[in-house]
Amino acid sequence: MNPTHAYQVEQTLPHFDQDSITADVCVVGGGMAGLFAAVSAARLGASVVLIHDRPVLGGNASSEIRMHICGAHGRNNKETGLIEEVQLENAFRNPTLNYSIWDSILYGKAAFTPGVKLLLNTTCTGGTMDGPRLDTITAWGMTTQIQHTIRATLFIDCSGDSVLAPLSKAKVRIGREAREEFNEDIQPESADDRTMGNSLLVQLRESDSPQTFNPPKWAYKFLNPTDLPNRSVGQRGDNFWWLELGGLNNTLRDADVIRDELMKVGYGVIDYIKNHHPQKDQHANWGVEWIGSLPGKRENRRYVGDHVLTQNDVRDGGQFKDIVAYGGWSMDDHHPAGLLYPGRPTIFHKAPSPYGIPFRAMYSVNVPNLLCAGRNISATHAAMSSTRVMGTTSLMGQAVGTAAALCVKHACEPRDIYERHLDELQQTLMEHDQWLPGLSRTINALTRDAKLVATGNPETLRDGQDRPVGDVAYGWVGAPGETIQIELAQDTFVGGVRLVLDSNLNDHKRMPSTIPLKGNHARMPEKMLRNFRVEVRQADDTWRVVHREVDNHQRLVRVPVSARTSAVRLVLESTWGTAPATIFSLDLLESVPNRYAPTDGARWADVVAKVPAKDLAAPESLAEESSGRTRGGA
Ligand SMILES: Cc1cc2nc3c(=O)[nH]c(=O)nc-3n(C[C@H](O)[C@H](O)[C@H](O)COP(=O)(O)OP(=O)(O)OC[C@H]3O[C@@H](n4cnc5c(N)ncnc54)[C@H](O)[C@@H]3O)c2cc1C
Repeated sequence: MNPTHAYQVEQTLPHFDQDSITADVCVVGGGMAGLFAAVSAARLGASVVLIHDRPVLGGNASSEIRMHICGAHGRNNKETGLIEEVQLENAFRNPTLNYSIWDSILYGKAAFTPGVKLLLNTTCTGGTMDGPRLDTITAWGMTTQIQHTIRATLFIDCSGDSVLAPLSKAKVRIGREAREEFNEDIQPESADDRTMGNSLLVQLRESDSPQTFNPPKWAYKFLNPTDLPNRSVGQRGDNFWWLELGGLNNTLRDADVIRDELMKVGYGVIDYIKNHHPQKDQHANWGVEWIGSLPGKRENRRYVGDHVLTQNDVRDGGQFKDIVAYGGWSMDDHHPAGLLYPGRPTIFHKAPSPYGIPFRAMYSVNVPNLLCAGRNISATHAAMSSTRVMGTTSLMGQAVGTAAALCVKHACEPRDIYERHLDELQQTLMEHDQWLPGLSRTINALTRDAKLVATGNPETLRDGQDRPVGDVAYGWVGAPGETIQIELAQDTFVGGVRLVLDSNLNDHKRMPSTIPLKGNHARMPEKMLRNFRVEVRQADDTWRVVHREVDNHQRLVRVPVSARTSAVRLVLESTWGTAPATIFSLDLLESVPNRYAPTDGARWADVVAKVPAKDLAAPESLAEESSGRTRGGA
């Protein structure tokens, strides 16, 4: 570049800027599954690149699509681990359930987890193989115009669309299996390529005065109730998930054609609610808050893994020795014609809750270094109609991220984890608060050999169960002021304390798919410990505070102790409500990982102080008439 002619940049490059990245793990797609795959792998020490083709994370749960996260039905069956961590952070930071703040919480998890390199607005466009293994992928930075080449030991496809399949020749399935292939009675007689459709969502909001709505000319005309049979069209219209089309087409290749149709449908349905509905007067004060521009996808390519999860596996409760996640949503099988079909838009076929999902459904049968999580795992159409919900896909993401980190640790492939390191995978997941129904977390020797002193039955704090299961409470209850004392046989170094608290697994804590009404706010769980302290006993029998936690808002809490001592005690100070605290587990740890918390943002004044003074010189044209401080900017 000629310094005296800054506007003339010489075009010496025959192509866009190139950039090469090498990492242990590359995750493609930053929906809930991909986000948690990346964060869990990095927390366990792997170097991770997460590429995501949108500006905000969360996929169908993001502000761009706004589906609320569903999961396993039933009392106390709510998903924990990373999904509960972000939902609790959201309840704490975002009580009015604002979508931009929700986006920022997901962004913060990816962008500020040490070990994760986050590439937003970056889309995977190609790949190269090294024999049967995926070697590199290429990705295009839409905002940076950089062509990235990413080499990784392991790839995790969380794109929903299985974008790495055509690049790697990984085996996939699409559409509905014939009933007889896996003996699934909810499947059609003959196999076909039909899928569930894509949907655009709408949010309406009630205001204090009448709201008019003039539809665009191109909107479809819905004029009376017979035009929308079997659809719940009210002023809130629930979340309009039934604005669905595309299952008769190809939901990938035809995605933009489907979107165009959905735009006409979406605006047409609002026109119907506002201007043609028989009870339109009841909707007078309702107006459009938001209408999506990016349809959510439900179904297309699914990987084939070492196991294909079927309807019968789901119905049998998923009794797998390699359970690493669980589902519990009904088999929610939408009609492929979507809104074109006048009958009920979906059939909820019963599924038990919870049912196990095996690790063998989460890696490719023929590409040895390729894992997957999300709606694209190895499952039939019927099983996938249940596993696709995002509480479940979140668990899968944490499972494959954890597995990938163990692959790095043992220098092995995903199938080896199944064959040789399954117990370590399952124990690591439970250690990080992922519930695996039917399994117990192993209690470490430091905790097991200690003596617990507290009111009631403190043994429940080390029974390996970190939540209520069925009718069994598995929790210790104590009021503020009470203590739990852990007596050690002799002076021992204690690195930290791990607690699992009661975050109320019957409160869904979801972002809404409708607009929250007045008073419809997230609240912190009332039995969860808010303030507490950890103390160690000193040689003179006095107690020293080693950690005080204020405004704790997490269920899984690990705090440092870093002391040699003969006893540790937890002192309960307060909960988020008036109820006593419930604590499911208390473990002593040899060390506390420090890779979890982002560092605090710097003071802006310190940021400015680092800029060279010459770059902060006043403009030479400062003498002009207005400083720009008082006018609106452009
Ligand atoms: C309208 C609708 C209603 C639904 N209702 C619910 C509900 O109420 N509750 C619920 O839990 N689930 C619901 N589902 C199902 C659920 O949302 C999906 O199954 C779920 O999003 C799947 O999660 P995922 O992480 O696999 O994919 P996604 O959420 O789709 O995330 C994958 C991400 O990968 C990105 N990506 C794709 N290709 C590339 C590429 N080449 N490079 C980089 N990034 C890429 C995409 O942009 C996307 O954001 C609904 C789905 C739809 C469409």
